[in-house]
Amino acid sequence: MGCVFCGIASGKSAAYVVHEDEEVIAFLDSNPVSRGHTLIISRKHYDNILDIPEEMVMKIAARARELASLYRSRLGADGFNTMQSSGKEAGQSVMHYHMHLVPRYKDDGLSLWLHRNADKGIDIQEAFDRIRGR
Ligand SMILES: [Zn+2]
Repeated sequence: MGCVFCGIASGKSAAYVVHEDEEVIAFLDSNPVSRGHTLIISRKHYDNILDIPEEMVMKIAARARELASLYRSRLGADGFNTMQSSGKEAGQSVMHYHMHLVPRYKDDGLSLWLHRNADKGIDIQEAFDRIRGR
């Protein structure tokens, strides 16, 4: 079906695999933003946060946690960002659920946080009321 990550998960496509088990595989991003930038996926294809089972989200997060510990000792990473994008509008480019683990280093100059902008005119109360069904 042409999914790049399914190709890696099945072993048909090469990747720098840093962890694999029956359900989860982790490999280095081919276009890294930092040393050790890793993608963690389920072997089974899910599109995004809306269709992946809760247990799988937890397994992927647990592998991210283990790899963070490994990268702290092996790569000397000082901090980590974990990120997941769901949907084109969120910047998801491969439509196979994946979590980014981005090791951070002192003075690495990366700015990964979304820009906060007080001028966006977002009504927090309105959003809250809708979320709470009021
Ligand atoms: Zn896939």
